[in-house]
Amino acid sequence: MGADAVTVVGGGIAGISAALALADLGSKVTLFESRAHLGGRVASVRHPRMGIEIDNCQHAAFRIYDRFFQLLGRAGAQDIVRIQNRTEIPFVSPEKKVFASLRTGRLSPPNHMMTSMMRFPYLSMKDKLAMRKAVKAFAAEDDEGQWQLDDITFEEWLESKGQTPRTIERFFGFFTLAALNLNISEASAAQGVMLFRNGLFGARDAFDVVAFSQDLGKAMNGSLLTALKESGVDVRTSSTVKSVAKDHVIVENQRIEHDHVVIATPPHLAARLLKPTHSALSEKISALEYRALIGIHAFYRGSRLPDDFHFAAMIDEPLIQMIFNRSHELDEPIKDGLQWVSVPVSRADDYLNLSDEEIMAELKRVLECLWPEKSEVELVDHLIVRVPKATFAPTPGSSKNRPLVDSAGQGISLAGSYTMTGWPSTIESATRSGLTAAARVHNVTWDCDDLWPDWPISPKRDDPDWKVI
Ligand SMILES: Cc1cc2nc3c(=O)[nH]c(=O)nc-3n(C[C@H](O)[C@H](O)[C@H](O)COP(=O)(O)OP(=O)(O)OC[C@H]3O[C@@H](n4cnc5c(N)ncnc54)[C@H](O)[C@@H]3O)c2cc1C
Repeated sequence: MGADAVTVVGGGIAGISAALALADLGSKVTLFESRAHLGGRVASVRHPRMGIEIDNCQHAAFRIYDRFFQLLGRAGAQDIVRIQNRTEIPFVSPEKKVFASLRTGRLSPPNHMMTSMMRFPYLSMKDKLAMRKAVKAFAAEDDEGQWQLDDITFEEWLESKGQTPRTIERFFGFFTLAALNLNISEASAAQGVMLFRNGLFGARDAFDVVAFSQDLGKAMNGSLLTALKESGVDVRTSSTVKSVAKDHVIVENQRIEHDHVVIATPPHLAARLLKPTHSALSEKISALEYRALIGIHAFYRGSRLPDDFHFAAMIDEPLIQMIFNRSHELDEPIKDGLQWVSVPVSRADDYLNLSDEEIMAELKRVLECLWPEKSEVELVDHLIVRVPKATFAPTPGSSKNRPLVDSAGQGISLAGSYTMTGWPSTIESATRSGLTAAARVHNVTWDCDDLWPDWPISPKRDDPDWKVI
């Protein structure tokens, strides 16, 4: 039997998934969120001049984000997902202007990307031959062995597997930057191995890219909020929890009793709430570092990108690492004739002090290299969103500071993308952590690699319930 009354602190994806699963399991749930809106780091911002809501930054997702898609399915929000039916990741060097895609071929995993890799123009034959060794080395690791690698950097591990500097930088470095929000020289080898073993070199469909038809912040305060309310969750926004104990929380000087509490805040705020009662745990969590992300949003009158351009990764570009065409997400009448070019800048700590003008000059330079014939297309407006504490940093040795769901003992569960889900700081990690907390509260035996019971299953290729890009 699980707890009757459960308080959830934090209305990000971890708190939302915990609250929904707890309510489905029969708990009476109250969810407190400091801000006026749900979603946490999946946040929409209002463009001050254009008057539209857009997300802080493009949220990338892949088919392997199973639990997150189950969450969207549970809230009836499948419609906002468009997913590739075959992995295809286009790359281009603005200097060389040659587009080339990494895509799944006929070989079985872990070699399913090999045919396209062999044709990839941005690596030499020597690089590619060495890469086959790395693919074997990933396959040779297992879940337990992988975490033994947490004290060295991913770069060191790759070097020990004979990888060339160019492959490390252009191939492994790109995916590490985008998925772990870290430079490869500062990422834990355990987390890097997990990324490639389960992702790019895992199941054939694991890295099918997802595009959302609207920004995720809207879904958080639309379908997900509705699902919470319909399940009887008492959602209290603009309510900050000041202190937490296993039998009560204090919110705005009010004492609210419960049988169990789930703390689903970012790590530095969880550490603050735990400090009075769990000082050693609080100190460990405080040792986790953050890294920044920047979202660049530029709006053009006309097609600054070719209309059929969807996205591409940029080779050897430190700031403009990827370019997305997100015009399809704009609502009428704003959409009319406008193109929305969006650039997520990972590991952006070194760029936080750049001015908007400096950042936009870099975007202009890259666009002019790639599509000089469109340089006359007018820039209508831009918005640059800087998020210094975007993700926790899975640096070497960090896994020991990631708490487990039960690290705070009886009556208190911890959730959040930083908890020890085995995943980097992603929306999938946040969902898994929330479900793990719900399972703990109700004593449900559940392995987070399995589907969450009774929620719609995540999309398989050719599943008619989910739309294809
Ligand atoms: C700009 C940006 C881009 C990103 N891009 C990607 C991406 O492409 N793909 C991906 O998978 N992930 C991405 N991430 C990471 C992902 O968004 C986060 O890992 C995930 O959303 C974290 O969810 P969470 O629920 O653990 O924490 P949060 O989203 O931080 O939610 C915690 C909530 O707790 C609330 N809170 C804190 N203290 C209290 C209190 N005392 N009382 C009440 N409420 C409280 C906060 O207001 C917040 O809403 C990105 C993050 C950012 C910022």
